[in-house]
Amino acid sequence: MNTSLQSRLAERDKAVNWHPYTQMKTAGDPVPIVRGKGAYLYGDDGKKYIDAVSSWWVTLHGHAHPYIAERVSQQLNTLEQVIFAGFTHEPAVQLSENLLKLLPGNQEKVFYSDNGSTAVEAALKMCIQYAYNLGNEKTKILAFKEAYHGDTFGAMSVSGRSVWTKPFGSMLFEVVFIDTPNAENIERLKVEIGNIAEETACFIYEPLVQGAAGMLMYEAEHLDELMKFCRKLGILMIQDEVFTGFGRTGKLFAADHLTEDPDIMCFSKGLTGGTMPMGITTCSQAIFNAFLSDDKYKTLFHGHSFTANPLACTAALASMELLLKKETLAAIDRISRQHSDFVKTLSFHPNVENVRQTGTILAFEYKTEQNTSYFNETGKILYDEFLQRGIIMRPLGNIMYLVPPYCITSEELDFIYQTILDVLNLFSEPAHFPIGAAGQE
Ligand SMILES: *Cc1c(COP(=O)(O)O)cnc(C)c1O
Repeated sequence: MNTSLQSRLAERDKAVNWHPYTQMKTAGDPVPIVRGKGAYLYGDDGKKYIDAVSSWWVTLHGHAHPYIAERVSQQLNTLEQVIFAGFTHEPAVQLSENLLKLLPGNQEKVFYSDNGSTAVEAALKMCIQYAYNLGNEKTKILAFKEAYHGDTFGAMSVSGRSVWTKPFGSMLFEVVFIDTPNAENIERLKVEIGNIAEETACFIYEPLVQGAAGMLMYEAEHLDELMKFCRKLGILMIQDEVFTGFGRTGKLFAADHLTEDPDIMCFSKGLTGGTMPMGITTCSQAIFNAFLSDDKYKTLFHGHSFTANPLACTAALASMELLLKKETLAAIDRISRQHSDFVKTLSFHPNVENVRQTGTILAFEYKTEQNTSYFNETGKILYDEFLQRGIIMRPLGNIMYLVPPYCITSEELDFIYQTILDVLNLFSEPAHFPIGAAGQE
């Protein structure tokens, strides 16, 4: 509980750990966290932080939730792991049954893996092998220009090309990238898709909100139109709900904003309430059937050691039970409404632009003279300002966003909103923003 302990842990960390998405040369000391409760994380110096980003968009019901802990602990004392080829267990069967009931009616089968990227890998392999198994090989995949679907090679390939993928550019498979749809470009997009429909195995997309691209949002109505068009042309659709799933968009799934149904869906992040890593890929009966054969070569040869881990399945069961409670659904509504009110205030702020919201996800841009990008230095300065004030925000460049856990109270949200206004007012004119004070990254 003192600073020497804190610096010691940070030092020990630096000696052995390589952190994700972190330039280790210029990064500051990591903040040692010793425990979590509800919307808060506690540092080893006693300082508490509101987790306004749900620990990278995963935490749904708050940290160290006692109900999830209790269920996982029981499971841990019963069955912690079993090979999922040739064996099964109650938590996996129950979770699949419960999840399928909440998804579009055409989703019939559940394939388990470890995280969002592997859920995407499995989905891509299903689509490509689907065509292969039907003796109809297709070589093209369609995705959005600013997409993010994960960091493994297949997931990187279908993600927009960026600084993140640059070193691997020559190793990524070819993907046809299109703009996200709007009223103006929809007809042009249909022509682009129509031109390559014959060779296209699938279309993968983040529905309504493109998270890692900077919480970019687009309308359900236009996505529906694209989906309808893909369906007509026989292009399979992979709906990546790794981020949007489990209430983030104000409804249980982004699918609930759409009238068209995808062929395949991907889940992770909020799936276990943010307690344990797990990925799920669901698919329609038609996809599943294309793999049924006496020919062994038509098998889906994909699997991970921890497929359908009983502890992760139990965490997901407990989290989904909490999610469906009246109080949680009401909290999601309340957060969405509070965000909407704040959007009105924020929209008038002279230093702010492109304020946008979908359900519990709120994003806006700090006006700067630099381009909006991940490497915009503004992000680092803002990050430090919020951290000092006890709020974990993780701006993507100059794009700030809130993705709070549903247990956050209206008072806690108001505190975050007020702090955002305070921090914005610190730098009353964009030109006076202390660019360059942030170090190199
Ligand atoms: C985070 C994310 C992924 C990757 O999930 P990981 O668990 O980090 O591998 C895939 N798709 C979307 C939409 C995501 O937001």
